[in-house]
Amino acid sequence: MAKNPHAGIDLSGKKGDKIKAPLSGEIILLGNLFYNGNMLLIDHGQGLITAYSHLSKFSKKEGSWVKQGEVIGEVGATGRATGPHLHWSVYLNGEPINPDLFLEDASL
Ligand SMILES: [Zn+2]
Repeated sequence: MAKNPHAGIDLSGKKGDKIKAPLSGEIILLGNLFYNGNMLLIDHGQGLITAYSHLSKFSKKEGSWVKQGEVIGEVGATGRATGPHLHWSVYLNGEPINPDLFLEDASL
């Protein structure tokens, strides 16, 4: 985890575990990237964006709005992942911030 070059944290999980949106927002990007695998970004407004990587499955389409607690996808190991996990990153005004700040409230 510490040597992981991309910002964010790894949340352990099994393939197929449901990933829920911690806050409502709009899915502004959904795609397959070399490093992050299947990933999506949610724009929650006020400069807050959360990113989810290595998904095995998407439950929503790009441009859709999600409510807090809605399932957005499933945990997987796509991209450069050694095993199934959710790689979760949080950005505020374009800068990565410590997602631990949100974990107490988030239902991930
Ligand atoms: Zn990771």
